[in-house]
Amino acid sequence: MLKTTLPIVGGLILLAAAPTLSADSPPPLPDEKALQTMNARFAPVDLTVDVSALPPNEQQALVKMVEAARIMDGLFLRQVSPRNTDTLLELSADTSSLGRSRLDYFLMNKGPWSRLDHFAPFVPGAGVKPPQGNFYPADVKKDEVEAWFVTLPEAERAEAKGFFTTIRKTPAGKLTAVPFSVEYQGELVLAAARLREAAALTTQPSLKRYLETRAAAFLSNDYYASDLAWMELDASVEPTIGPYETYEDEWFGFKAGFEAFITLRDDAETAKLAKFGQHLQSIEDNLPIEAKYRNPKLGALSPIRVVNQLYASGDGRRGVATAAFNLPNDERVTREKGAKRVMLKNVQEQKFNNVLLPISKAALSAADQKNVAFDVFFTHILMHELMHGLGPHEIKSKKSTPRAELKDLYGAIEEAKADISGLFAMQFLVDKGVLPKSMEQTMYTTFLASSFRTIRFGINEAHGKGQAMQLNWLLDKGAFKVAKDGTFSVDAKKAKEAVKGLTRELMTVEAEGNYARAQELLKTYAVIRPQTQKILDALKSVPVDIWPRFVTADKLLAASGQ
Ligand code: ZN
Repeated sequence: MLKTTLPIVGGLILLAAAPTLSADSPPPLPDEKALQTMNARFAPVDLTVDVSALPPNEQQALVKMVEAARIMDGLFLRQVSPRNTDTLLELSADTSSLGRSRLDYFLMNKGPWSRLDHFAPFVPGAGVKPPQGNFYPADVKKDEVEAWFVTLPEAERAEAKGFFTTIRKTPAGKLTAVPFSVEYQGELVLAAARLREAAALTTQPSLKRYLETRAAAFLSNDYYASDLAWMELDASVEPTIGPYETYEDEWFGFKAGFEAFITLRDDAETAKLAKFGQHLQSIEDNLPIEAKYRNPKLGALSPIRVVNQLYASGDGRRGVATAAFNLPNDERVTREKGAKRVMLKNVQEQKFNNVLLPISKAALSAADQKNVAFDVFFTHILMHELMHGLGPHEIKSKKSTPRAELKDLYGAIEEAKADISGLFAMQFLVDKGVLPKSMEQTMYTTFLASSFRTIRFGINEAHGKGQAMQLNWLLDKGAFKVAKDGTFSVDAKKAKEAVKGLTRELMTVEAEGNYARAQELLKTYAVIRPQTQKILDALKSVPVDIWPRFVTADKLLAASGQ
């Protein structure tokens, strides 16, 4: 998930986004017009899913899952800040048009702080976002909590630092860990009931098992069995519901936020993935690196699911829309079963239509604009994920790993590697006749357009840095060209060799654990050159992301009388 800040739109947001939010000089709050501009960065889209293939009982089960998912919204709102519930009530009572704009933006951000603008407040009295969320007592300092952790016996300490407890004060003023099943009992009892109703309706055994074990976890606070059941899901409906990601606990990253993704498996893409799976060893055997760096026998790769999102809530629906996620986070489960990557195809498609296509119109030559296509965009996303599993993963001579040797630079190098070798792999499959020849025309151009979308989020984090490095490498090798009018285009003949060259470069850096070379590459290439900046400047009116409306879920709920 991209969690970084985007280009500033409008002077007022620039002011509001200034990093120093000290209590004695609160920044000016955005007025109605500014709020609407901030809101308009998210293009509203109708998210649809074809549910016609599901029998009536599975559709009814789906309705129950959506009802359970709706409960996660309110739970997450409470977790973000102790004042959120009161603020929501105050905003709901304000019927002025400024009040309505604030309410809309509050619901989108799950709080009175703009997530795209360094959490700048937009509601009077909101102050600075509490980094500890509502997971720890509001009147306790971080070091007091840390000192308290140390005093606890091991089992209690694990509980206090665990995903599924809040830290509260007893009437005597002592710190104590409260299980989620107690803290959020009212909501979780209701959610568990809906999940059990869904379990009773479905005839798919692995789905029934996940729903039943997850319902039990809401009441027992023991999520282990249900996480295992989630890894084993093999059904037309793929729900993910409960406390998962820990982003909202900015003190320690211990506490899990509630969220839900109710999705349907995409069978065509699942088949495509299986097909790619058969060619992975042959891609590895033909990587453009020294033979000794190739892996003669690839191990089992983590499972990937391609799904279409029917409904999302809580931590899974705030600010920038989640397009993919990797779960679970509990190491006991990942040690045993690994992790599963879930890609939300219809969300990616809407981002493509509403963000990437407009970007391509501003960034590419008229001829190249025709070569930007969703099928190749999505195929590259899948290939990127698969390529994380290929290439060098150990450095035998140093008894070490690329991650350990490249340290702070590893993220950017590894992300760029997955991207560029993803293109290499697609070209390889085109040459073998596995992918259509037409993709040769579209894959480099679509990749070029998508570069601007990533770089627009800034080059402070791994994805942006890696993308800028690839863009500049390909420009220097003549694979991408810039015309006098500033638009970019692809020279497909040169692209093939340039992609191979950078794949070789990055994989060799990893194979050798060559920190100095990684540093040099990033210093030379992971920059925004003036010609790229000109394009970024031209993108100011293009939406930054989408705000999905769950029209299929609404229809299902309406039909069931909810
Ligand atoms: Zn990646």
